[in-house]
Amino acid sequence: MKRIGLIGGMSWESTAVYYRLLNEAVRERLGGLASADVLVHSLDFSAVVALQKAGRWDEAARMLARSAQGLERAGADCILICTNTMHLVADAVQAAVGIPLVDIVAETGRRIAEAGHSRPLLLATRYTMEHGFYHARMEAGAGLRPIVPNEADRALVHRVIFEELCAGRVLDASRQEMEEVVRRGRDQGADSVILGCTEICLLLDPAKQVLPGFDSTTIHAEAAIRLALGEPLAAPRQLGERIAA
Ligand code: GLU
Repeated sequence: MKRIGLIGGMSWESTAVYYRLLNEAVRERLGGLASADVLVHSLDFSAVVALQKAGRWDEAARMLARSAQGLERAGADCILICTNTMHLVADAVQAAVGIPLVDIVAETGRRIAEAGHSRPLLLATRYTMEHGFYHARMEAGAGLRPIVPNEADRALVHRVIFEELCAGRVLDASRQEMEEVVRRGRDQGADSVILGCTEICLLLDPAKQVLPGFDSTTIHAEAAIRLALGEPLAAPRQLGERIAA
């Protein structure tokens, strides 16, 4: 089994989900007391958020690249950046190491395209919804053209991510509001919905939306397990059951 290196802590609420999903997947596949071979470097999220707010993406790239190099030195065979947003600097992180980076955008895009969808609604941080990197990668990698919610809904989704989910608060009222956002996305012409922030699975069940749901956290962890166990990428298996309560 290969060793999986996680750059986590963004936030640690979702890194904990990754850790559980990876271990459950290995137990499910190998049985007995088998568990995943995982290294976690959990960053101080407040430092990352400060760089995001200041738009200092170069500095953030250096921080994550150093983390990836540390994981590589510690024996990791692959790297996962456990957040969609920070895939904004994924190329710089990949360039800093000699082991593969499992790309959350590429893996999620591939899964959506395989399911026959092309216009997913993207629920994510403002950086992911508005910067343009996510759309460019989805279009180039999987031919998808994501739709983003309107301005008021983007503000809502961003606020729920940072003020609630990353702070460990999962509120029924916010779940209902987010499900309304998905309904409005369907009315805008979306054919599917991406839980494009690694904490959203704590709030929304992708199987219970009015559109077919794709959880980036689950898909990303699944891709890492396939790589670690040498399973073919073209034969995806569903990982675990739903995470949302
Ligand atoms: N975990 C979130 C994501 O997937 C947001 C936290 C961050 O800004 O990195 O985008």
